[in-house]
Formats: sequence, structure tokens, C-alpha cells
Amino acid sequence: MRTEVLVVGAGPAGIATAIHLRRAGREVLVVDKAAPGRDKICGDGLTASALRELELLGLDPTDIPSWQPVHDVVVRSPLGHRCRFPLPRGSGTYAAIARRAELDAALVQRARAEGVEVTQNTAMLSAVLGRKTATVELDSGRLDADYVVGADGMWSPLRRALGHARTGYRGEWHAFRQYFTGVSEAAATELFISFEADLLPGYFWSFPLPGGGANVGFGIQRGHKHRIQEMGALWPDLLARPHIRELLGPGATPETPHRAWPIPAAIDQTLSGRGRALYVGDAAAACDPMTGEGIGQALVTGRMAANAITAAFEDPPQAQWRYRESIEAELVPDHRMSALLIRALQHRKGVRVAVRVAGATNWTRTNFARWLFEDEPRGVLLTPRRWHRDFLGRPGAYR
Ligand SMILES: Cc1cc2nc3c(=O)[nH]c(=O)nc-3n(C[C@H](O)[C@H](O)[C@H](O)COP(=O)(O)OP(=O)(O)OC[C@H]3O[C@@H](n4cnc5c(N)ncnc54)[C@H](O)[C@@H]3O)c2cc1C
Repeated sequence: MRTEVLVVGAGPAGIATAIHLRRAGREVLVVDKAAPGRDKICGDGLTASALRELELLGLDPTDIPSWQPVHDVVVRSPLGHRCRFPLPRGSGTYAAIARRAELDAALVQRARAEGVEVTQNTAMLSAVLGRKTATVELDSGRLDADYVVGADGMWSPLRRALGHARTGYRGEWHAFRQYFTGVSEAAATELFISFEADLLPGYFWSFPLPGGGANVGFGIQRGHKHRIQEMGALWPDLLARPHIRELLGPGATPETPHRAWPIPAAIDQTLSGRGRALYVGDAAAACDPMTGEGIGQALVTGRMAANAITAAFEDPPQAQWRYRESIEAELVPDHRMSALLIRALQHRKGVRVAVRVAGATNWTRTNFARWLFEDEPRGVLLTPRRWHRDFLGRPGAYR
């Protein structure tokens, strides 16, 4: 069997790659080892960048039952100071929550509607790169492709099969997630982030879901106070903290078991492609090093990889360089800015000062919320070529 582009993984990165390639007229096949309905362990938070990319893909939020736009963000400092940050009103959506099982299923449906062939329950087992062809062994048989795209997540089996994996790499963050039902009115409507002193620069979150639910979790960076192995024991301790108990309310009941997964945030140091193989999303370690968010970056890298492959069909060896150029121009500055900011979040005093300064006026409150939920205003400081008069006035998605 032969196709022009084989995409391994039908998460946000793989689907974005496939839709953009299909729109450019390329023949593309997506395979995913999981059965339909896979539930990626995630906070389900969609930033303004993610929302704009989803809109570009033609995703209709009404296809997702758990879609919950967010208007206010409440941040708690380690000493208990709380500040409410409103997102801009009346100019589109800047943040939303959507259960990953539903979001990913809607994206697969979207890709099929665009004419992409998506085959689930089919795993990539091994791969070899030739000068003109990538040969991939699937559990359904052998396939040759002009390009293969690894959209296969944090542990990227494609990267491993091709010898492109970093030995011993386990991601920069590790995060825990559990769904709750019956949460308080506040938890069911507001997005809440608490900088717990012992988790810094990590944080606890509660993200609202329709019907009185919430996605609740916490993330820590490797190498700080708590070890990854301690996270299981830390979870009941966190849920028992009075301000968290109060937020979730007396009726909060776990809906699912808690689960944990690593978050790779090292796009500046990670090989993004070689020859006829490119990596996107978590497989390219594209998550934000300050917030751990990665859906927006998965969608953006998918779009960039698709553009690079489309342009390089005339000149195949160029795909990896074109793709790297886009990453260096757009994503690495955002990454560096987040890496700088996270230094301030490593100590209680830094967080306390940041929350107080951010909450000083209406203007700082609104724009701090945008800093948290939009990558562009963060990274733009390091990229003067992206300065324009209204970079803080850009509308949200789905206006
Ligand atoms: C607890 C937690 C909370 C998070 N919260 C947020 C958040 O609120 N907002 C946010 O933006 N990001 C968040 N992230 C990060 C986000 O989940 C990821 O960055 C995002 O899912 C990356 O998408 P992806 O398409 O690259 O990879 P994935 O979503 O991991 O998709 C990879 C796909 O590859 C498939 N696959 C793997 N191996 C093979 C194989 N051999 N053959 C075929 N298919 C294969 C898998 O089945 C899967 O479908 C969080 C992460 C964690 C762990």
C-alpha cells in the first residue's frame, strides 16, 4: 500500500496535520492505535490560540456537549490572596473547556468530513526511512509513504522506531487529573488556579464543566520539592486542604479514577524532523513550559508541518528545514518567554508579587488573564517583528 503522507496518531496534532494537508490537495492517511472514544489525560483547557486553530479547522463547538466557554479566571496565591481576572467580553472566546474524549472524537469526525481517511484500532509497529520513501509497519500490514508524521504523543513510538528519541527523556512536567460531579456553583462555573506553596512552580486547577462537573488536577515540574512518585499520596492531601474542599463543595464526588501523564515542554531542544519524518505536538515536546498547556501547540505544529510538507513536495529534503524554521520563528520565542516567566513562579514571593501586580487595576486584570490564556502576548515581547499596535486587542475565536 502507498500514500503520500501517513500521520501516526489521531490526537489534535495529527488531525490538524491531516486536515491542512488534505486542504492542500495531498493524499493523507491517519492511523491511531486507540479505539474510538480514547480519553487523553488532560485538563481540557483550551487557550485563545487553541480556539483560533480549532476555528480554522472548521470545528463547531456545538458538536461538543461539554463545551464550556470561560469568562473569569480566579487565581489564588500561596498565602491565600485571591484575585479574579476577567477575560475580554464581547469580542469572541478567549478560553473554553471541553472534555478531551469529546473534543478528539469531534476532530476525527471533522477530518473525515474533509475527506481524510482515519483508521482507528491500528498501531504503528516499526518504521524505516529511505531517501525517497518512509516504510512503516502497521499491525494491519506494510505501508510506503512520501512522508510520515509522528503525532503519536509524549512517548512517540515513531521517534523511538527511527532512533530519534532522547535517551531517558520523561518530560518536564507531570500532571494528575480527575473528573468530579456535584461540585459547588463556583467550581462549576469558574476556572480556578491555586499556586500551592509546595507545588511551585506547579499549581492546582479546577476547570468547570457543564452539569455541575469539574476537571480537577495538579501539575508539578520535575526536580522540585515533590517527586513524581509522591504525587499519588499528595492527591488526597491536596483535596483535603480547606480552601480546595470549600471550592469543590460538600457534594463533590469523583466521577473517574485519578490518572497521571507526563508533559513534554522542550521544543527548543527537540529534533522536530529528519528526512521524511516530522514530529508534531507532544511528539515534538511542544507544550508550554510555564502552564503545561499543549493542545494549541499541537494544532499549530500540525499546521506548520502540513505547510512545510506541502511546500516541499517539489523539493523533498526541504520539509524538515522549512518546518524547523517555522518552529524557530513562532514557537521558540513563546517557549523562551514562558521559561523566563517561570523563574518568578518558583518562589512564594514571586507568585505573591505577580498576583498582586496583575490584580492592581482593571487593565492589568484583563490583560493578565490574556497572558495566561494566550501565547502570543507572552512571546511577542521577545519578537519585535510581531509588535503591532493592537497585539493586546486581538479578538478571541468564534465571534
Ligand atoms: C494531566 C494533564 C493535563 C493537561 N492539561 C492541558 C490543558 O488543560 N490544556 C492544554 O492545552 N494541554 C493540556 N495538557 C497537554 C495536552 O494534553 C497535550 O499537549 C496534547 O494532548 C497533545 O496532543 P497530541 O495530539 O500531540 O498528542 P495526544 O493527544 O497524546 O495524541 C497522540 C495519539 O497518538 C496515538 N498513538 C500513540 N502511539 C501510537 C502508535 N504506535 N500507533 C498509532 N497511534 C499511536 C495515541 O493513541 C493518541 O491518540 C495536559 C496534559 C496532562 C498530562
